[in-house]
Amino acid sequence: MVSKKSLLIISLLLLCIFIFVGCSPSNQVPEEETDPNKIIVWVNETTKIYHKLTCRYIPEEKGPNWRRLTKKEASLDGYSSCKHCKP
Ligand SMILES: [Zn+2]
Repeated sequence: MVSKKSLLIISLLLLCIFIFVGCSPSNQVPEEETDPNKIIVWVNETTKIYHKLTCRYIPEEKGPNWRRLTKKEASLDGYSSCKHCKP
């Protein structure tokens, strides 16, 4: 039989865990980067299109035709931006 007191302690503990998880730095959304020299994009050598790292059109298993460049390098190299993720 669980006493009311231990139930209270357990719920307090759970609350503390939730607060801790909610405040952990890994959960924070990083600031949106706007400097083209710092934005990293995936470029597809075949389609000549570059994507945001989070674009859903990037396959999980990237072939040798995928490269990581900065947005500036990608546009200088003549790649065009993806119409879906708009990097
Ligand atoms: Zn894309």
